[in-house]
Amino acid sequence: MKILLNILTHGDERIGLKVVREIQKLNIDKKILFVQVANKKAFKSKKRFIEQDLNRSFPGKKNGNYEERLAYKLSTTIKSVNLVLDIHSTRSELKDAIIVTKLDGETLKYVKAIQPKYVLVMNATKNNALISQAKIGIAFEYGKDNDPNVLKKIVQDIKRVFYYISLINVKLHKRKQITNYFNVISEIKKPRGYKLLKKIKNYKLVYKGEAFACRGDNYLIAEEDFYPILFGEKNYKNIFGFMGKKLESRKIF
Ligand SMILES: [Zn+2]
Repeated sequence: MKILLNILTHGDERIGLKVVREIQKLNIDKKILFVQVANKKAFKSKKRFIEQDLNRSFPGKKNGNYEERLAYKLSTTIKSVNLVLDIHSTRSELKDAIIVTKLDGETLKYVKAIQPKYVLVMNATKNNALISQAKIGIAFEYGKDNDPNVLKKIVQDIKRVFYYISLINVKLHKRKQITNYFNVISEIKKPRGYKLLKKIKNYKLVYKGEAFACRGDNYLIAEEDFYPILFGEKNYKNIFGFMGKKLESRKIF
């Protein structure tokens, strides 16, 4: 069993460093658990990325721009391990979300061991995310970068994963919370000058025919029912976020 704890895919998401510090206290065999700082250059430059979002650059290019070359290089390690845990933070009010690019039987077992509040199956950016290269890839998007509670939750949930595969024997209580699964199917474009209406919140259903953004008296109307996902993330310039559809649990299990 080889696990890759990947941090700083986005150079400005320093929470990963703190997570590593906490996880190292568990003294897990270095032949089992590897730590990888994905975008060192962006981190050192105090930037999210150098030329383009690394998490949209996979599988990468041998002779591409900086992040494309980096993605190409990192793919080898990512593909070689059994499990990749990718640590992020978010400025959106997304909160407590696990992101996966597929929900096959194996991935689902890990997700169930974590019992997160939200699981987002990212189809919208499917083949370009770092975890898309992994046998089993799980990204943590639990909240703001400098929030100590976010750090605590991520560390606790990594321990849940380690407990599930018998790497540690600290028994963690089963959670009572229900996991909500969303299929994240496409980007929602943000035309120039449009602002999101205040009532629009992540995970809160927008009905077909309902307005969700405006520019003066012009409104954008939902063409179908959808759940806003990753809305309010300030790092997106041309999109509001993503369109989510709820996955009924009877279709998953
Ligand atoms: Zn990130």
